[in-house]
Amino acid sequence: MDVTIIGGGISGLALAHELAPDHRVTVLESAPGPRGGGYMIDFFGPGFRAAERMGVIDELRRRGRAFDGVRYGRPDGAETGRIDAAPLVRAAGGRYFSILRPDVEQGLLAVLPSQVELRRGALAVAVRDREGAASGTPDGAVVTLEDGSEIAADLVVACDGVRSAWREQVAPGHGGIVPMGYRVACYLVEGPALAAELGDRMLMTDTVGRVGWLYAADAARVGVMLSERTDPHEDRRPEPDPDHLRRRFTGLHPQIDAALEHVPAAGEYYDDLVAQSSAPRWSRGRLVLAGDAAHAPSLLAGQGTSLAIAGAEVLARSLRAAGPHVEVGLEEYERAWRPTTERIARSGRLSAGAFIPSTMLRLRTQQIARRAVGLPGVSRLLARSFIAA
Ligand SMILES: Cc1cc2nc3c(=O)[nH]c(=O)nc-3n(C[C@H](O)[C@H](O)[C@H](O)COP(=O)(O)OP(=O)(O)OC[C@H]3O[C@@H](n4cnc5c(N)ncnc54)[C@H](O)[C@@H]3O)c2cc1C
Repeated sequence: MDVTIIGGGISGLALAHELAPDHRVTVLESAPGPRGGGYMIDFFGPGFRAAERMGVIDELRRRGRAFDGVRYGRPDGAETGRIDAAPLVRAAGGRYFSILRPDVEQGLLAVLPSQVELRRGALAVAVRDREGAASGTPDGAVVTLEDGSEIAADLVVACDGVRSAWREQVAPGHGGIVPMGYRVACYLVEGPALAAELGDRMLMTDTVGRVGWLYAADAARVGVMLSERTDPHEDRRPEPDPDHLRRRFTGLHPQIDAALEHVPAAGEYYDDLVAQSSAPRWSRGRLVLAGDAAHAPSLLAGQGTSLAIAGAEVLARSLRAAGPHVEVGLEEYERAWRPTTERIARSGRLSAGAFIPSTMLRLRTQQIARRAVGLPGVSRLLARSFIAA
């Protein structure tokens, strides 16, 4: 059948890879080219095993890197503690590495079957049912692009991310996102000297209400991630404002101050609320949601990419098994995949309160808890529960 995928991000590319052997696949991606910048993700969980089965893990692993762990730092630069990554990697059976989000995209592009038509600069603006001539029920859908052209398909998959334009159409009343009470900005800067100083350990500031992370993305570039508490009732995308970042995050740590000298221009870095998405149903007619459009767990659960890849595999497998009975395949996709996404989203919500301490007392409590995490037995237990979440 003809499948049109809206969004050539992680889930769109993973799904195109999986559907290409059985179907004619078109991917519509609004961005004119692969997006640079971005943030470092921890890759583990269901997506890791799916990537192994899909034969894409080597492309991802060779673009990824390993960190020794995190070092915490005070505003005066003194170190306040460390957490090692080794127990996590062991708990995941070695199936754990870090990789920049754009490098996941590049890895998936490297293995994209040549028969997939990837149309860049193609912004989808509407999807409507294509009524089946005999039954009167939809036997496909028609996508309208910004330039007014239309593409008819037997199935349309919305892989357009956490702020999906099609969640409302599939599940009326559930179009929005669920803010988790934080905002996060990320960018990469050139900085070989700072990258060398950071080495194989991430820096995280030990601060109240705001936190900064810094890591060497490679020998030449440093990744910066800045997050602060926000009103949990506000769901509008914040206006990117480099001055706001400099005002809010200067003084957290000397190395963060150095990275703040190179904030890119507004619009050239990622800046959004930390948010989850969900919907009580994932398909309506021949339009189905996948990846963050269906089930973003937010960075608090740290598995959005993993779920995007694994969910693509489940959707493709369900459609393959259902043959011409597409609706049966869509039902099976939801039956098989929803429980995993809900479990991981729940673990994200549970960790939300502790993501950035709101008071000095909470910061102190976290510092004490961190010392306990350093004990071998405790670190093993915590690592296992994090990986199993
Ligand atoms: C700061 C941060 C840290 C994170 N850390 C982790 C982590 O440690 N581990 C992890 O697994 N995940 C992490 N994630 C989450 C992860 O990035 C996402 O869950 C994952 O990228 C979801 O992929 P997706 O394809 O569903 O959506 P996206 O990657 O958002 O892709 C959507 C694509 O659709 C395109 N698009 C949108 N609308 C249209 C349209 N109308 N027409 C055409 N194209 C369109 C967009 O241009 C984009 O390319 C993190 C996210 C953030 C923000």
